[in-house]
Amino acid sequence: MQTILSVHRFEKMIQKQLCNIVWFKRDLRLTDHAPLSAAIVAGSPILLCYFFEPSLLRTPQYSARHWQFAQQSLSDLQERLKSYNNAILHIFKTEVITGFEQIRQHFEVNTIFSHMEIGIAATFERDKAVKQYCQQHQIEWKEYSQDAVIRGLKSRTHWEKQVEHFLQQPLEHPDLKHLKTVQLPECKPFDWSKKNTIVPSFQPGGETMGRKYFSSFVHHRAANYIHQISKPEASRVSSSRVSPFLAYGNLSMRQLYQAVESHKPSSKHVPMLEHFQTRLWWRSHYLQKLESQWQMEHEPINKGFLALDRTLDERFEAWATAKTGFPIVDASMRCLEATGYINFRMRAMLVTFATFTLWQDWKAVATHLARLFLDFEPGIHYPQIQMQAGLTGYHTMRIFNPIVQAEKHDPDGVFIKKWLPELQNIPPKLLPEIWKMTALEQRFYGCVLGKDYPKAIVDYEVATRFNKERYWNLRNQPDIQNQLEAIFALHCIPKNIKEYQEKLKSKIPPKL
Ligand SMILES: Cc1cc2nc3c(=O)[nH]c(=O)nc-3n(C[C@H](O)[C@H](O)[C@H](O)COP(=O)(O)OP(=O)(O)OC[C@H]3O[C@@H](n4cnc5c(N)ncnc54)[C@H](O)[C@@H]3O)c2cc1C
Repeated sequence: MQTILSVHRFEKMIQKQLCNIVWFKRDLRLTDHAPLSAAIVAGSPILLCYFFEPSLLRTPQYSARHWQFAQQSLSDLQERLKSYNNAILHIFKTEVITGFEQIRQHFEVNTIFSHMEIGIAATFERDKAVKQYCQQHQIEWKEYSQDAVIRGLKSRTHWEKQVEHFLQQPLEHPDLKHLKTVQLPECKPFDWSKKNTIVPSFQPGGETMGRKYFSSFVHHRAANYIHQISKPEASRVSSSRVSPFLAYGNLSMRQLYQAVESHKPSSKHVPMLEHFQTRLWWRSHYLQKLESQWQMEHEPINKGFLALDRTLDERFEAWATAKTGFPIVDASMRCLEATGYINFRMRAMLVTFATFTLWQDWKAVATHLARLFLDFEPGIHYPQIQMQAGLTGYHTMRIFNPIVQAEKHDPDGVFIKKWLPELQNIPPKLLPEIWKMTALEQRFYGCVLGKDYPKAIVDYEVATRFNKERYWNLRNQPDIQNQLEAIFALHCIPKNIKEYQEKLKSKIPPKL
């Protein structure tokens, strides 16, 4: 059988030109790109391709803003490729396997080079189908890790060392001078004009832009990085804002880590840069969690929480459309809708408000936020949502009180008033608990609650206390506690496990 197939393949090779494929996914850059680098070294002509997959376009987590960012990244990539023998990037609007079939009608494909994707269930399923397809057609598929994520890892015992090793490795810059691409005969250039509905308030995609953001952060903006990281307004400037560029692979995590390392000796902001590097570690740590337990997109990390009876009612709609009557919550949601970005603390507050104060289903919360986050990165998003919604069973629960967040992190109401102009005339000290305004104050400041701005949809203290009790009643049950050992083994770095266990002993409130 083997000999027959080989002869068959040999005959096809005579008829068709041999080529390798470099399949771009969320790695839209030309630097530190191991698959492209390896494909050039392999020597055969290369067909470069990217797929807008109809099945992925339909998934609820992705929305127009994501595809716009991908298009901008591809446009930048195409522009850069022109300097290398006018290399052609094929952009398909088909499922991946359909596209590979089109390529195989004209070329004998030897190897597909790509990065490993840590994505949603839809991309995981697609990758399984591609693997099968490759086996069927005797195509080798070489996948490379881009965030130090290890496929199929079952324990974190040696993980830290492996990440460190990955970060120290030389960058894998492709030798683009030797890039020889091939082109499909009927290949038409991608029509950008139809697709590009540029929304100026979103960060624009592409390697060129990513470098600009990173450079301005390292040289200037990092000065106040950690001091302002919790401030919804100031952090927009003082945080790196590299997240969408990492999510679409315009920049590689290793590239950024090493660039910071080499910049440190001449920097005045070394501690800030070190905090930034720590977050790059966290990135890997979280991506690894999703890789090790891909089901967390659909079910709680700790399955005992399947018994949690959170609902989905009209309060979800109020939260999603910025009509809760809690100014910092609504301002964060409007800001996110308009710009695709909000800082970490406000993300966490949005989740705890929805899942604890309003007791809404975490999956709906995750999907809504994924659609809005320009930097939607499944490997960070799902573990973070689950942690904030209390679904691991071992993290210290932090419920972000929106009154305290507004008082501490937006004391002058600058952020709130920017996104809720209807509150423009209200003195900042009244904003965090706006529902306490008297009827006279409402008239005087030109904002009548229930007319100009919603009345608070819940009594914060009462609702949160009640739901916390419900939550802890369940969390203390053996069904949840019994899962922890396996969760620790799969997801936790060994040196941290003891600390979690100690905290668990001291922090679990008595049964209510
Ligand atoms: C509920 C929730 C959902 C989130 N979903 C996403 C998401 O889909 N995509 C995303 O990139 N980040 C997500 N984050 C993490 C974090 O809020 C963003 O990475 C950060 O705000 C992006 O801004 P920055 O690039 O300026 O970050 P910086 O503070 O400058 O950090 C640099 C990079 O480190 C990584 N990073 C930062 N914080 C974290 C963290 N806590 N965990 C893991 N990696 C981190 C990101 O890649 C980030 O771009 C989420 C956080 C929460 C609470």
